[in-house]
Amino acid sequence: MTPDGEGGAPASATLAAAPPRATADAPGTVPPPVGAPSQVPAERPKIGDTRPARPPVPGAPGAVAGGAGANGGKSPGSASSGRGQSRTGGGGRGRQRDGGSGGPGARPSAPARNVTGTVPSEAGPKAAVTRADSGPKTEGRRGGRERRGKAVGRYMICVHVRPEMTQIALLEGRTLVEHYISRAADDATQIDGNIYRGRVQNVLPGMEAAFIDIGTPKNAVLYHGDVRYDVDDVEGGNGSGQPRIEHLLRPGQTILCQVTKNPIGAKGARLTQEVSLPGRFVVLVPNSTAYGISKRLEDGERKRLRRIVDAIRPKGHGLIVRTAAAGASAEELGADVERLVAQWETIAAESVKGQGAALLYREPAIAVRVIREELNREYRGVVIDDLALYEQVRDYVGAVNPELADRVEYFDTEAEVLPVFERYHVHEQLHKALDRKVYLPSGGSLVIDRTEALTVIDVNTGKNVGTTNLEETVYRNNLEAAEEVARQLRLRDIGGIIVIDFIDMEIRENRDKVGSALRSALARDKTRTQVFDISELGLVEMTRKRVSEGLIESMSTTCEMCGGRGIVFEDPEL
Ligand SMILES: [Zn+2]
Repeated sequence: MTPDGEGGAPASATLAAAPPRATADAPGTVPPPVGAPSQVPAERPKIGDTRPARPPVPGAPGAVAGGAGANGGKSPGSASSGRGQSRTGGGGRGRQRDGGSGGPGARPSAPARNVTGTVPSEAGPKAAVTRADSGPKTEGRRGGRERRGKAVGRYMICVHVRPEMTQIALLEGRTLVEHYISRAADDATQIDGNIYRGRVQNVLPGMEAAFIDIGTPKNAVLYHGDVRYDVDDVEGGNGSGQPRIEHLLRPGQTILCQVTKNPIGAKGARLTQEVSLPGRFVVLVPNSTAYGISKRLEDGERKRLRRIVDAIRPKGHGLIVRTAAAGASAEELGADVERLVAQWETIAAESVKGQGAALLYREPAIAVRVIREELNREYRGVVIDDLALYEQVRDYVGAVNPELADRVEYFDTEAEVLPVFERYHVHEQLHKALDRKVYLPSGGSLVIDRTEALTVIDVNTGKNVGTTNLEETVYRNNLEAAEEVARQLRLRDIGGIIVIDFIDMEIRENRDKVGSALRSALARDKTRTQVFDISELGLVEMTRKRVSEGLIESMSTTCEMCGGRGIVFEDPEL
């Protein structure tokens, strides 16, 4: 998930060393939905949006579907993590970790889905049938209307707890759009947002980075741009230019730091010294003058919130008001702030109690996090099949968002006929998301293969091509494929370089339409993507920010027989 707020402020720079004193920036998993850059294409959700994009703007120029252009530096310290740039109040704090994302509270408007009127595929040739019998009741719910004066959202969160893992499914209507897994052992790998007392292991001037021991198996990395310091405390600072990292950090030094990116593969976790604590309505930025209100809120609401926040703003700390604060009362905001300040005081007290690497703050159970980020009026419910977790979530939502509390439901497996994932058709969709082949509504298919360097998606037509206009058939098929590709990338959490081989189209206009259908479908993905123009060979190249290892990888191990190659040689003597 993503952070991002507007309005950092200078102020709190501090020599990384002694009393660990954090500064701002949105933390890892949490996307304070604030301060969206304004130059993104119209159909792309802004930072802070949750689900669906606004309807595609006809004829919107679409070179960049993911906003990556605006923010997609390649350098590790890119995207603004504040290399001492002056962060004026209200200025963009642009660190965008994985795409503008999902703060709750955004009001998704009409679904961008059916660009062409195709049925959002549920994969499988029978999808249309399945969908047809879902009945008027379901369809009504999908519309996010009101029933008996009560808002009924399009979205739903389904949580299935097992002893070894917790699975969280995000549904749009009946369609599975995202899936998260959290395992008991994930204190080593699922640490995004956690705050640590870290010990500097070594400083690598050439890489402008330092390795930090945070007590996890692998050292974490702190890049120069994420180091906080006070200019006055730097020896030999010449006033101009940045002090070098070797002048800011020394081996053995203790620092307070927060993980902004989970370790993936051989790469260690990424850290920042700009600590922030996400709440439901606000993000607390300790020891900072950061101050901002989500630009996604209307002017009147911003004014109202500004008055409230001016009154409740804690001394010495910054606050960023999230989009989710729309309509929240002064009491609700005050309670949120109080909780965060108390939380911070505990962390600060712990941080000075020792020298070694230690975990000071752990992000809550992944279910609570997802719900914290996602749950809003657009959700018709959260269903949890574990009593303890249900109570935790219900209490959390009850404390921060009482009007949504009754949407959190306990799914009593003893009383129910089907397991929760079957009851809500998650199970079958998850299985399809693990398959190599995905069927399209009209009989075509996608074949998804991951290689070392990239993921390749091959688009095929169904068998019954040809009786009518071939170009039209191919075009329709490619449109369905574009929708499904976007959905599968998000569901499977595929990151890195992706190459899509659509079926050749003669008519340029059709090619362009498929390209823009892909872009608008991707716009609903809060993870950053960038789509390039179709190549000479008819391939579409795109990238999607790598956030985690991917759905399939997280649920599988490499085949021992063939080492993952997929073939076994007949003659072992060969
Ligand atoms: Zn094998």
